[in-house]
Amino acid sequence: MKLILLGPPGAGKGTQAEALAKRRGLIQLSTGDMLRAAVKAGTEIGRKAESIMKSGGLVPDEVVIGIIAERIGQPDCANGFILDGFPRTLKQAAALDELLDSKGTILDLVIELKVDDNALLSRIEKRASDTIAAGGTPRADDNAEALKTRLLAYYRETSPLIGYYFAQGKLRTIDGMVPVEEVAREIDALLDA
Ligand code: AMP
Repeated sequence: MKLILLGPPGAGKGTQAEALAKRRGLIQLSTGDMLRAAVKAGTEIGRKAESIMKSGGLVPDEVVIGIIAERIGQPDCANGFILDGFPRTLKQAAALDELLDSKGTILDLVIELKVDDNALLSRIEKRASDTIAAGGTPRADDNAEALKTRLLAYYRETSPLIGYYFAQGKLRTIDGMVPVEEVAREIDALLDA
């Protein structure tokens, strides 16, 4: 099964993708996690992406498309995966379609998590404070300033994907404002339908 979780920053894509990957034996593919790992490791990609990510902007399409093309080609992805944070632009979506087509496969579903914009800042702030409480370092972009840029990027670049996947008949939308477990149940219901 090949899925995309779509939604603005703070919608719960990462949380749901991780739990769903465990429940269904799928691989979670988060370009944000991969890029953060590259920043931490100090690779060339990481050095290029770091300041863009910190400001909340989007890393160039070629970079993330390259990362995903390489990752999807690995054997553990053959059984299926959940993309979380990719694609984020129409160019990335088209590249993904081509990539899957070249492997003789297709996307099964795109699940949009719909959330109230007003809830996003408090969710992002909570994630940062939870991380600090657990003794960790919060993400460099989990603050009000970067969130503004991330939201703008979402509405400008990513939200057109809703129409793109609707036109393909693959879009399903669920309420991301209900508790985490309930969102998970809604996702399972969609997948089992
Ligand atoms: P995320 O963890 O998905 O919120 O991503 C964190 C940051 O990584 C984003 O704000 C972007 O700067 C960058 N990023 C992650 N995925 C992508 C993508 N598909 N296209 C462009 N930039 C991305």
